Amino acid sequence: MINDLLSKSKITISFEVFPPKKEEDFQSVFATLDSLAELKPDFMSCTYGAGGSKPKRTVEIASYIQNKLNIDTIAHMTCVGFKKEDLESNCELLKKEGISNVLALRGDRPQYMTDEQFNGREFFYATDMVKYLKENTSFQIAGACYPEKHYEADSFEIDLKHLKEKTDAGVSFLISQMFFSNEYFYRFVDKARDAGINVPVCAGIMPITSTKQIGTSVTLSGSSVPKELSDIIANHGDDPDDMRKAGIDYAIRQILDLKAHGVDGVHIYTMNRIKTMKELMGAIG
Ligand code: FAD
Repeated sequence: MINDLLSKSKITISFEVFPPKKEEDFQSVFATLDSLAELKPDFMSCTYGAGGSKPKRTVEIASYIQNKLNIDTIAHMTCVGFKKEDLESNCELLKKEGISNVLALRGDRPQYMTDEQFNGREFFYATDMVKYLKENTSFQIAGACYPEKHYEADSFEIDLKHLKEKTDAGVSFLISQMFFSNEYFYRFVDKARDAGINVPVCAGIMPITSTKQIGTSVTLSGSSVPKELSDIIANHGDDPDDMRKAGIDYAIRQILDLKAHGVDGVHIYTMNRIKTMKELMGAIG
């Protein structure tokens, strides 16, 4: 169980993967998972519906990781478009595949949703789904957290107050949004502990290997880009190989510093990139 792994003194290293959107790419994802498994992550998570992927694919990928690769898996699940019966049927699918960990997320408002649908949603916040899961299932539940606050929250303190409600509802560990300045993460964990949030917190790290990522994943995440990283982009952005090397090196330094600080775990947003992950894992030991 992931909770047991996180309660040990060892710092866990885990990976996030995603189901490719296109059918032709989906067939090759299993070979990618095989290669990532060789790097021996403590556990892996698979995103849900992110970037337009089909939700059912999350179950297929999570099942492959759990049952074929024998690596503990967390299936992400977003409730923004869920009715109770959708949640129940997704839980049934996961249960059938022997998945016992879910990352309970609200999700972002899909473009197709009208104001009426969005404002009338059945599970308003992730906490509402956590409460439902806690009462009706035996899943181990993880939640998301935001070292630089969630983009909708009026303040860091208000976001932390809602995070406390989420952990009190039954979240047993947290995975953070990506961040590029470790100081934000250390400050966040200190404040969370002061607020009585005592569950393990895995630090979310995304290696930036191309300038395109800044315009997509990073902008969407709402995470800030410190000067050191923007200098790397300015100096290496025109040369894809140099940019890749410098970006991986930046992530390695972030992870080594997190390890030196004794964080609970590091969760790496792999973007399904084997070569990057091999280099990174080779360097962090
Ligand atoms: P919540 O915890 O519900 O918080 C959302 C906002 O509501 C916050 O501002 C919070 O402060 C506020 N809030 C909470 N409770 C209350 C309350 N009672 N009253 C007023 N305000 C409240 N998205 C995907 O689509 N698929 C994925 O697979 C995916 N994986 C992710 C993995 C990680 C580790 C992270 C950090 C994010 C992921 N996301 C994913 C993105 C996520 O869905 C969005 O960030 C979403 O906007 C918020 O989800 P949440 O679960 O954090 O929401």
